[in-house]
Amino acid sequence: MRAEIVSIGDELTSGERLDTNTQWLAQRLNEIGVPVAFHTTVADDLASNVLVFRQASERADIVVSSGGLGPTADDLTRFALAELAGVELVQDEGALAHIRSIFARRAREMPATNLVQAKFPQGSRIIPNPHGTAPGIDLDVPRTGKQPARIFCLPGVPAEMREMWEGTISPAIRQMVGAKKVIAHYRIKCFGVGESDLEAMLPDLIARGRYPTVGITVSKATITLRITAEGETPEAARESMGSTIETIRACLGDLIFGEEDDELQHAVVRLLRERGQRLSVVESGTGGLICHWLSECGDVRDVFQMGSVLPRFEAPPSRPGMKALDSMQTSFLRELAEMGRRSPEVDFCLAVGPFPLEGSGAGGERSFDVAIADAGGVELRTFPYSGHPDILKARAAKQALNLLRLRLQRGSADEPSASGG
Ligand code: AMP
Ligand code: MG
Repeated sequence: MRAEIVSIGDELTSGERLDTNTQWLAQRLNEIGVPVAFHTTVADDLASNVLVFRQASERADIVVSSGGLGPTADDLTRFALAELAGVELVQDEGALAHIRSIFARRAREMPATNLVQAKFPQGSRIIPNPHGTAPGIDLDVPRTGKQPARIFCLPGVPAEMREMWEGTISPAIRQMVGAKKVIAHYRIKCFGVGESDLEAMLPDLIARGRYPTVGITVSKATITLRITAEGETPEAARESMGSTIETIRACLGDLIFGEEDDELQHAVVRLLRERGQRLSVVESGTGGLICHWLSECGDVRDVFQMGSVLPRFEAPPSRPGMKALDSMQTSFLRELAEMGRRSPEVDFCLAVGPFPLEGSGAGGERSFDVAIADAGGVELRTFPYSGHPDILKARAAKQALNLLRLRLQRGSADEPSASGG
C-alpha cells in the first residue's frame, strides 16, 4: 500500500506560497506505516485536477489532497472528483446545516456562494471539518484488477487540514493498513568531513535495499544520517535500528556530535554544562552568528558569559611580543582570545577572526583563523575559506563551534598547540 499527496492551488504552483501541507501529511503517513511514493502539485484548473486525480488513483492506493475546497470559483476539487468518478454532485443537508452554524457563530449570514461546500460527489463520504466551512471528501475510485483507490480531500487551511487528519483520516487509514505498523526515524548528526568521505567510512550502510535504511543529507556542512525502520510500535521500530546505530557510532567516532534536532551549539552547551565551565565568544567574520545560535539554546546563562562582535578588524602594525610565526592578524586574534578569557567567570574564550577580503590571498587560497583560549594558553586553527558564499558564514561558525566541541570532549588532556594545525 502506497500513497500520493496532491496539493492544489495557483499560489503553490506559482511559487507564491510554500506547500507545507505536503511535508506535514508525508510525515504523518510515514508514521502510520504508509510510504509516500509521489508528491504532486497542481494549479486551480479543472482539466489538470482531473488528470492529476486520475493518475494518482491509478498509481497509488491512498491519495490525500489539500486545497480547492473553498467556496470561490477557483476551488475545483469537488468538481474534479465528480468528473473523475462520472457522478453528479449532491447536496448534503447535514453539511449545509453545519456550514450555516459556522456562519451563525460568526454572526454572519451565509453567502450563497458557500452553498457549493455542501455538495459532494454521489457515493462519497463526508469528512467533518469541526472549525471550518469546508468539509472534506472521502471517495473510492474503482480500478480494474485492483482494490479501489481511496481519495481523501482536505481543505488547504493548515489548521483545519490537521484537525481533520487527526479526527477522521488517520483512523481510517490505520484501519485500512490493518496490522499495526509504524515507521520510525532516528537522526545522527555529524560534522567535520565531506559527505562522500563520510559515506566511504560507512561500508554498505547507505546501500539501497538495505534494512534498516540509512539516508544521508547535508545542510550547510552538517551531515545528517537518517535511519528508518518499521515495527509494530515505535519502540519496536527503534529497537530494530540498534545494531545499525552502533555500527555508525563505531565507524564515525567523534565526527558525531548529536542526534535528532541537535545542532553544534547544543552539543557545546551540553558539554560546558557537564563540565561546569563557562564560555565567552569574540566574533569578527561570523558577525555574531555563534552568539545568536547560543542564545537559541534556551537559558544558557550558566554556561555563556558574554559575546562581542567586532567589525572587520585590521591588526595594529608591529606589536611587541608578537609570535614570529603568526601573521599580525593571527597574533591579534590570539590576544583577543586571551582578553576574552581574562574574566574569572570564564573558562574558555572562542574567537573567530575576520574573513579574508574579496580577491585577497595568493592563488585565490583564502583562510580564516579560530582561537580558543583557556587557562593553559591559546589553541589556534586556520581553516580554508572557500565554498558557496551563501553558506560560508554558517560553515565558519560551525567550524569554530566544532573545534570547541572536540576540545571539550577531549577534556583538558591536550597541551594547547603553539600554532595552527
Ligand atoms: P483552499 O482550500 O485552496 O481555499 O486554501 C485555503 C488556504 O490554505 C489558502 O490561503 C492557501 O494559501 C492555504 N494553503 C492551501 N494549500 C496549502 C499548502 N499545500 N500548504 C500550505 N498552505 C496551503
Ligand atoms: Mg485554493
